[in-house]
Amino acid sequence: MCPPCDRGEGAAPRAWRQGDESVNRVLRVGVLPKVLSVDATPVLPSTRSASLAPPLRLHLGLGWAIAGLLNILFDLLPGEEARSGGADAVLAHAVDLGRHLGLGLLSICCAWLFQRGLPAGSPLGWCALAVFSLALGALSLPTDLDGLAERLGESLGVGPDLASLLIVAGISGAVPALAWLTRHRGWRRPWLGVSVQAASGVAALAAFACNVSISPGNNPSAHLYLSWLTAVLAAAALPRLELSLASEQRRITALALGAALGMCSLWALFGRHTNSVMIWVARRPSSLHLLAVLQRDGGLDNVHATVAARAGAFFAPRSEARPVPPSRTRPAVDRPVVVLFSIDSLRADMLGRPEGRQAMPQLFALSEAGVYFTRARAPGSMTKFTLGAVSSGRYFSQQYWSGGKNRWPREDKSVHLASLLSQAGVHTAAFRAAEWLDNSVGILRGFERSLFEGEHLAINANWIDGKALTAQLISELEANADRRGFYWVHYLDSHSPYVRGGGAPFERYLHALGTVDAYLGQLREAITRLGLGERATVLVVADHGEAFGEHGARFHGSSLYDELIRVPLLAFGAGVVARSIDTPVSLIDLGPTILDWFGLDTPSSFMGESLVPLLLGGSRPFARPIVAETGLKQSMLFEDGYKAIRDLRRETLELYDLKNDPGELNNLSDQIDPEHEEHMLLLRSFFQVHTYRENGYRVPYVK
Ligand SMILES: [Zn+2]
Repeated sequence: MCPPCDRGEGAAPRAWRQGDESVNRVLRVGVLPKVLSVDATPVLPSTRSASLAPPLRLHLGLGWAIAGLLNILFDLLPGEEARSGGADAVLAHAVDLGRHLGLGLLSICCAWLFQRGLPAGSPLGWCALAVFSLALGALSLPTDLDGLAERLGESLGVGPDLASLLIVAGISGAVPALAWLTRHRGWRRPWLGVSVQAASGVAALAAFACNVSISPGNNPSAHLYLSWLTAVLAAAALPRLELSLASEQRRITALALGAALGMCSLWALFGRHTNSVMIWVARRPSSLHLLAVLQRDGGLDNVHATVAARAGAFFAPRSEARPVPPSRTRPAVDRPVVVLFSIDSLRADMLGRPEGRQAMPQLFALSEAGVYFTRARAPGSMTKFTLGAVSSGRYFSQQYWSGGKNRWPREDKSVHLASLLSQAGVHTAAFRAAEWLDNSVGILRGFERSLFEGEHLAINANWIDGKALTAQLISELEANADRRGFYWVHYLDSHSPYVRGGGAPFERYLHALGTVDAYLGQLREAITRLGLGERATVLVVADHGEAFGEHGARFHGSSLYDELIRVPLLAFGAGVVARSIDTPVSLIDLGPTILDWFGLDTPSSFMGESLVPLLLGGSRPFARPIVAETGLKQSMLFEDGYKAIRDLRRETLELYDLKNDPGELNNLSDQIDPEHEEHMLLLRSFFQVHTYRENGYRVPYVK
């Protein structure tokens, strides 16, 4: 991994040969360890056969071992349930430690090979380390740090690409710089050397802390880089260690030990581990997923033809399907007005918790006064996944994403909900909290009016405050009160880091939700004031949930567990028959529902089915599956209450019986049961059939 920088064994530096006493003193007390062997070691034995010149190589190996042990220690700390013990956890620790040791041994071998070809006194070793560090950083960091780069670019007044370059150069350049400092022999004061070593140790711990806390479950290449950073900085911080292999017996012992460790590493790196062990490894953000940085598409194995025949029309290509006509039972509403009120990061269970009800009195009142779908799921756990799916009726991997670093469905050909409504003469308006919800970007498309105005939110200078959005929505309703209308407002006020109040993160989250709840109250008042009570129907949804430690995760986007994809879905106002509905539904059904409400056909490309019969007090059978995706994870909810999750990047499978295990803690996918295989087959088949394919195109799954 890390090329060494040694001058070669026995090539003592000039200062040593000339008897520089200050250097000798420092070396003797072991203040300057031999980590990265630019620093020749005067105490090395004079012949190759007497020693493997261990300081550099040994330290690199130990650095990786330390990174692996830190992972285990971290898991032993009192923490969430997801990190508790069990046989799977022990095996997962062994696999992860084995992988760390494997990389340690690989580093030792690379260092040894590199060092043999390097001329004495050459600075090439340092250059190689710097180049390696920069290359690894450039390959693994930019995609994952684009948000940070954007913010830095804005504050420095430079473009995001330059900002990204600065960040990568800063992080990657710090490694060789710090390592060089720990090897530097010219300190006049020994304590300076000790301080640099201590700084390297602190930096290693900081890299580890970042690794376990930043974006758990996402950004595998950044996590791999942070593991490497931890190992190298830990190596640089180690005090001098000597491994003398002068005797035959010691050499044999060392070889035997190396061979045993090598075997363990090979088992950890290339052995077939059970699915449940791999899920354990996958849930720990700092564990090594060497293959996880590679994108997978799971391959095609022609299972879909047989599955499609059994599973129904939504498991076959939709291009041949016919548009779906409106429901026979029509809502008794003249010139309908529909407002889609979407709230960022609102968990479904907030309506069932006393603190949630207290924070959102409006929403709670509506859950009793309107139609309340208690088991609604979002089609993704990231904003653009869900909003794009609602608008286009198609899942993320069905759309065509193009562009450079930040890809958008600008050239996607999907038919969008608002386009169909606008064509039918319905007034359509979007109130955008974010610039990228503009028609031209393609997440939302087809709105007659698309407003992005008002005061910016304190949490993100690119986002608009909900107060302005609500005022614009109400004045647009007023100005077009006579027309049929569809209005979509999305609030980002409740997005992390929740700055609407003080206290712990969950308290601040409640404050932020309370702010948006008040806007819902303003909308209700306006509907009454404008005399739209007999015509306006409001749909309240969230784009995804929010994790507060469940499954070791924070925020959203990292997984498809219910804390992230189960969302509120409420409908109130004209035409709806108030009740609570336990039938599982998906926000992918919103497009067909709204088209149906206006009496329009739903194109066959829409993957949902209309909820209008349910809103009117009736029922209907559903043929479409309830699917979600985020990054390279895909999930499907089945009628029997089972939920399957597949991770294409880590190649893990999960299956939960939500009736008996709503917290999704007991993974059943390893139990031999043909019925479970059927669930997995359906999930795989669905995406094999529907994923967008074109020569040279890959779905840009990131994070
Ligand atoms: Zn969101």
